Amino acid sequence: MAITRPSPYVWIDGELIPWDAATVHVSKLGWSTMGAVFEGISAYWNPEQEQLYGLQFSEHYARLLNSMKLMRMEQKFTVGDLVQASIDLLRANEVREDVRVRPLAYHADGTWFGGLLDSATSVVITTAPFTSSLGTEPKLRACVSSWDRISDNQLSPRVKCISNYQNSRMALIEASMRGYDQPILLNTQGKVTEGPASCLFIVRNGIAITPSLTSGILESITRQSILQFCRDVLEIPTMEREIDRTELYIAEEVFFCGTGAEVRGVVSVDDYVVGSGEIGPITTAIESYYHDIVRGRESRYDHWRVPVYSRVGQSR
Ligand code: PMP
Repeated sequence: MAITRPSPYVWIDGELIPWDAATVHVSKLGWSTMGAVFEGISAYWNPEQEQLYGLQFSEHYARLLNSMKLMRMEQKFTVGDLVQASIDLLRANEVREDVRVRPLAYHADGTWFGGLLDSATSVVITTAPFTSSLGTEPKLRACVSSWDRISDNQLSPRVKCISNYQNSRMALIEASMRGYDQPILLNTQGKVTEGPASCLFIVRNGIAITPSLTSGILESITRQSILQFCRDVLEIPTMEREIDRTELYIAEEVFFCGTGAEVRGVVSVDDYVVGSGEIGPITTAIESYYHDIVRGRESRYDHWRVPVYSRVGQSR
């Protein structure tokens, strides 16, 4: 997603830098061995409380550090440092709307073969406004991709490494050229994995089922949250297991979930109509409860949110 409106500041390696000054020399763009990992994080504005709620910042930065570790990148910052950096940046940018927080850690010296292990790593965080789809009930038409999902022993889907997203990109382009909104990727065993940038649930016999963490998926924070609140609050039975392709075609409901995707219902897969062809009741219940949590209208999962402004109505 292109950044349409620049924010006043960008955070780079511990400093807030004005947007226009945050440049990188072309020689640092890297070469084929360059590594870069990222996160997609959201913060939601609550107009009644005049508060911006950072969503699961610690969980996202813990995953970023895992991605860096797996890519053998030098780690200069802790989860706590990066959570604080995000809060500082959102305050400096005086954000009062729904916003994405985008950290990227990359090999800053563009090292070619040799010296890869001591290649210096930089961390950059930017913010950009977005329009939430929560409450709008988008109805997606999905297809099964002809591209297999990358697997753990190749480029692991567990890592949010930018190279992995070429696999997502190919699947997304193919789906859109064929007239669908989103692809669903299978693993090399032919089992369902996830979307290009979201996890997936199907509902069968009233049970919300999602591929297990070893199916070849990202360890999604939203997927985990949904599993938890279905069990704790909504009393919707859940299951993590392998899912066959044909189960997509006879499921009562199918939906994507993710920080960016939020909760989006799928009304057909490969032109097989899902359920009644409308968004089903379990998807609606999950979407609406998720919306209450992220916007700070539900207090049960307060620990998932970080209030960005220390006192209500105060911007710094
Ligand atoms: N799978 C992929 C490939 C993704 O890029 C994302 C978005 N980060 C997800 C799943 C959903 O993960 P999360 O709920 O942590 O945003």
